[in-house]
Amino acid sequence: RAMDNVLERFQFYTPSLNSQVSHRLQMASQLRQAVQKHELILHYQPQVSLDSGKIVGVEALLRWQHPEKGMVSPLQFIPLAEETGLIVPIGEWVLRTACEQGKRWHDMGVHGLTMAVNLSAKQFALNNLATVVRHALDDSGLDSHCLELELTESASMETPEKSIEVMQLLKSMGVRLSIDDFGTGYSNLNYLKRFPVDQLKIDRSFVQDVTSDADDLAIARAVIALARSLHLEVLAEGVETLGQYNVMKENGCDKVQGYYFSKPLAVDDCTRFLLEHTKAS
Ligand code: C2E
Ligand code: MG
Ligand code: MG
Ligand code: MG
Repeated sequence: RAMDNVLERFQFYTPSLNSQVSHRLQMASQLRQAVQKHELILHYQPQVSLDSGKIVGVEALLRWQHPEKGMVSPLQFIPLAEETGLIVPIGEWVLRTACEQGKRWHDMGVHGLTMAVNLSAKQFALNNLATVVRHALDDSGLDSHCLELELTESASMETPEKSIEVMQLLKSMGVRLSIDDFGTGYSNLNYLKRFPVDQLKIDRSFVQDVTSDADDLAIARAVIALARSLHLEVLAEGVETLGQYNVMKENGCDKVQGYYFSKPLAVDDCTRFLLEHTKAS
């Protein structure tokens, strides 16, 4: 049945579309098996507080270790996972795995670390999302305050009134909520005001040229000011240079994430990184 969704997208039969379809069908069936074959893994990217210079969180980022293709980026298979509905079991696996890892790091003495997990619109629209989250927390033993769910504006705006309800339910469990890629989707400020979220993540596209492009600097400052006045935290994504880091610090951004500090790391590398950087505290 999931295959039907893939096929529905192609209304006209041509040889070239046919080969696209069969390629996608092949990818879809490989992706379905990837979960059982343990080909999906999570990498973790540190998030740093600009106040303390300490690592305050990590974002879990999905990777597919494909037997022939090597490491496949989520940008190449998340859309397919969404169309086929596979994002639901995959997303649940991500949530559980990330919570388990968060608890493991806590038990190693890395305390107060937030584990950020990306949710797709499909998952957010599920009726049992809060239950799935509840089970991931209970089964792992991770403190709910240590889990942060990342949503996009578009996912939240599909059915905004329902989003508010789901967000309130998650907030009542103690989970943190963050708006990912802020500024790239539909921004309805009336809803943003009503969404019980904790943080905005400034999209990387505004951060990239922030030291050279006055418009990008203006946007970054405006998002930081907006977050301030709504009493939200604000994190800049994709900080790669000292210059970008300094701009964010000077303008009162709370946190940064990006290659300047670290690329997303395989679990063992991240463990080493976390232990090294939290030793002194
Ligand atoms: P995102 O949530 O906005 O994640 C940040 C992306 O920016 C990651 O790409 C990360 O590797 C990349 N990045 C971080 N710092 C830098 C930097 O300094 N420079 C540059 N050029 N890039 C940087 P990645 O891992 O390829 O993930 C891409 C997107 O795929 C994510 O964007 C997210 O939307 C989605 N994604 C990843 N994992 C999951 C998942 O478990 N579930 C869902 N639903 N989506 C996921
Ligand atoms: Mg994200
Ligand atoms: Mg993002
Ligand atoms: Mg994204």
